[in-house]
Amino acid sequence: MSIAMEAVQKAQHLIKQAQNIVITNHTGPDADAMGAALGLQLFLQHLGKAVQVVVPNVYAELLNFLPGSEEVLVYEENLEAARVLSNADLIFHLDYNALGRSGPMEKALRHHPAKRILIDHHQQPERWPEVLYSDTGMSSTCEMIYHFAEAMHWLPVLNAQIATCLYVGIMTDTGNFRFSSTSPTTHRVVASLLEVGAVPHEIASAVYDSNSRDRLKLLSQALENMQVFEKEHTVLIPLSQKELTRFNFKKGDTEGFVNYGLSIKDIVLSIFCTENEDKIKLSFRSKGNFDVNQFARDHFEGGGHKNAAGGVSYLSLEQTLEKVKKLLPEIVERQKKTN
Ligand code: 5GP
Ligand code: MN
Repeated sequence: MSIAMEAVQKAQHLIKQAQNIVITNHTGPDADAMGAALGLQLFLQHLGKAVQVVVPNVYAELLNFLPGSEEVLVYEENLEAARVLSNADLIFHLDYNALGRSGPMEKALRHHPAKRILIDHHQQPERWPEVLYSDTGMSSTCEMIYHFAEAMHWLPVLNAQIATCLYVGIMTDTGNFRFSSTSPTTHRVVASLLEVGAVPHEIASAVYDSNSRDRLKLLSQALENMQVFEKEHTVLIPLSQKELTRFNFKKGDTEGFVNYGLSIKDIVLSIFCTENEDKIKLSFRSKGNFDVNQFARDHFEGGGHKNAAGGVSYLSLEQTLEKVKKLLPEIVERQKKTN
């Protein structure tokens, strides 16, 4: 669904009326979620609006190079965030489409009287906001913020700062312009971002050349742990809490590990499992028609996109790995059906 004229008019009205705008994104905010929130914040500030980004929990430190990140309020860590959120009269929901994905903010958001605008590219949106701009064909929420800004006639204020925020989300959510969601339009949007001053090599370097030695050792451990099921075209990569602790795990350290599984020839499904204190977090990546959004929904209380999704398990790590292995015949069946 591209953005409808009626939605644009409604959004224009809601933004005009709003006194206190809060921009939110999903739990474990990634580069797309942060870039979209900070890019939108800059657009709204140019309009003279009072706006605050409130995120559910901590995000990767490397994203602190993004303009405006120093003012972000982290709900889980800062009591001020709850006060700011409760005063909002307009809330943006970016890069998520189900209130459950807002983690610790869910309750406060569920009962909030503010008007809502949702901008997101995940599958199967909940339909409660006043304005719903949902497009599962989009590369990233950052690309959608660009299209939203165009529809709102905001592009004359697009500058290098905003372009940097939006570029980072498009770059990371397309796997550096590799995934099938990368369209001619994506590249046209990116061209416009470069024209106003986004610098690709600087942004790529800020995101990808910020490894600690510990993170590389953790990657080495993950690759060591990797199990390849050749017949089933599936890879399983577990990491235990003990291993995470041994290599001083910090938020964002395991970002992208799941993709290594897919880089093996003929693998169509990669599953990455990390043991947290109270649950196992799973990441799924696939190639072609294998729908990991549906697979995650069916078996791991999750969701996401057709080729990139996540979920949770409340079993132990060992039991979760057993559960995945028991699902291998079903995985093969799903592959047969989609080919
Ligand atoms: P990741 O594996 O990088 O955590 O997430 C992959 C994609 O799936 C992202 O777009 C993310 O927003 C989504 N996702 C991750 N975990 C969950 C989950 O537990 N539930 C749902 N609905 N989506 C998720
Ligand atoms: Mn995204």
